[in-house]
Amino acid sequence: MSCTEGHTGALGVFGGTFDPIHYGHLRLAETAREALGLAGVRLIPAGQPPHRAAPGASGFHRLAMARLATADNPAFEVDSAEVDASQASYTILTLERLRARVGKDRPLVLLLGVDAFLGLPGWLRWTELFDFAHLAVANRPGYSLDGAGLPPELAAQLEQRQATPDALGTAAAGCIASFSMTPLAISATDIRSRAARGQSLRYLLPPPVLDYISRHQLYS
Ligand code: ATP
Repeated sequence: MSCTEGHTGALGVFGGTFDPIHYGHLRLAETAREALGLAGVRLIPAGQPPHRAAPGASGFHRLAMARLATADNPAFEVDSAEVDASQASYTILTLERLRARVGKDRPLVLLLGVDAFLGLPGWLRWTELFDFAHLAVANRPGYSLDGAGLPPELAAQLEQRQATPDALGTAAAGCIASFSMTPLAISATDIRSRAARGQSLRYLLPPPVLDYISRHQLYS
């Protein structure tokens, strides 16, 4: 945690494989910062994600790309802890660590796309996430927060914890809010398969990340 960060203002926590980081991720983080009044957003690339196949690029490269993508935004910082750790990356462990660092009063807001939110019941100790942070859920094309796709145990949490974005600053943890971003149907899966086919990736991710991918011949 940087020493300029202080103890005021909600902190956004945004984890992902970021394989590679793209404009869907960046727009989600920037919209959350603005819509939820966050003091900053901490992006945390996963080391070894437990829920999916091994990433296409190493943690080293994914971290480097996240740093390049966020270098021009003073509200964003990149946390290397999950990549540096030897064990699998679990969000609950990351939130425990961050809570210990920021103290019990500062709001932490875990940022998720709706697809990730729908998968929450498969996460380690998922109901304990609310003891450490709020959750804020962004729309994503192809997924919906209402209707039949919502697992019942998640629907119950949502009903109990649903709050407006401005409520997130009034407590340290425990609420679920949704916010809307410009819908962007960009996914890292699609980017990796375009790269493997030798197709252009321009306008899907920031130019410094494009350069990095071609310099290191990632995903080809
Ligand atoms: P992959 O295609 O490899 O699964 P991804 O593009 O979904 O990757 P992740 O790193 O898995 O990216 O996602 C990290 C977080 O960002 C998740 O909470 C996910 O819901 C969210 N996210 C990713 N892309 C978008 C997008 N285009 N719109 C909204 N949320 C997104």
